[in-house]
Amino acid sequence: MTGKPLPRLAPGSTIGMLGAGQLGRMTALAAAQLGYKTHVYAPDAADSPAAQVSAASTVADWDDLEALERFARSVDVVTLEWENVPVATAEHLRRFTNLHPGPDVLSVAQDRIAEKSFVNRLGIATAPWRAAGSAEEVARALTEIGPRCVLKSTRLGYDGKGQARLEAGSDPAAAWAAIGGGKPGVEGIVEGFVTFACEVSVIVARSADGAMTAYPAVENRHKDGILDVTIAPAAPDKVSAETAAEADRIARRIAEALDLVGVLAVEMFVTADGAVLVNEMAPRPHNSGHWTMDACATSQFEQLVRAVCGLPLGSVERVADAEMTNLIGDDVLRWPELLAEPGARLHLYGKAEARPGRKMGHVNRLFSRR
Ligand code: AMP
Repeated sequence: MTGKPLPRLAPGSTIGMLGAGQLGRMTALAAAQLGYKTHVYAPDAADSPAAQVSAASTVADWDDLEALERFARSVDVVTLEWENVPVATAEHLRRFTNLHPGPDVLSVAQDRIAEKSFVNRLGIATAPWRAAGSAEEVARALTEIGPRCVLKSTRLGYDGKGQARLEAGSDPAAAWAAIGGGKPGVEGIVEGFVTFACEVSVIVARSADGAMTAYPAVENRHKDGILDVTIAPAAPDKVSAETAAEADRIARRIAEALDLVGVLAVEMFVTADGAVLVNEMAPRPHNSGHWTMDACATSQFEQLVRAVCGLPLGSVERVADAEMTNLIGDDVLRWPELLAEPGARLHLYGKAEARPGRKMGHVNRLFSRR
């Protein structure tokens, strides 16, 4: 569906941002570069990465209807850096202002079952999967799609949290308990384990009139379930031109079917024979797009600002190849040596405490284009 162009918001307007982490911070910085202000709304916004660089912040809960209304009336458009903002919150905000992406997109992206059903309905492949609401259903799914599976909570899992590996002989009840099965609101999805050759992602930006741009498919390497390194673009000996084109086609198709306004990251597995299977998606800037800050004419953050402010999308021309390395926990202590490294571009998120597993910053290294 191709919508109408959004009203163009002039520089000086204020963008509302739901969520106050590093993605909100880097979006606010990109907004500032174009002369926009940002107002952050989050339950934990005080001295947060995004609030530190924004003109205003509201610290209030997602269900504080009055605070939401006040916030919505004080900004010109709202976007988000976290797709798990409750749908009821999104619907409430929509009564007072434009919100992109909207509640329909959030309800698909918040739930792994809704997400996989949506993608499969478009004829796009995923790992085989079954919904599981009990240990018995986990056991049945394991027989049907095993021998190796991954059990995930359908909601609120990230960086490998809320997941358990299963193989023939594993105890389905233990796996079910490990993801919080039996607790109120916890549902599961059992996915066939994909022996992938590599993991890739594509980030698409789409504006309300249907215009789209996509960055090239990148390779993502994870460590302990957390993104470690992104290689941009994916090397041709890992991901052929045909496979990269297929990943691009899939990401654009999903953005279009969602009628997305904003930025969408689609994470995919590439198998040894070049098949592309969608793993998950996020309707917001993504860690695997941080390389675009230094290596592309327009970063993923600026694309988001452009899309939600009704501006033309920018050029995604790649001026260099790049490798992005996350600084997790104590990695950030290496900042003096990274600053001294010629050509390394350091980005720190302003988080006071370097807890294990916490994303503290990233470094982009640029190379001449292959
Ligand atoms: P997710 O939270 O779904 O992105 O999963 C985190 C990481 O776990 C992925 O990036 C993969 O490395 C791995 N993983 C997730 N699902 C599967 C699967 N079905 N088969 C193999 N590995 C998986």
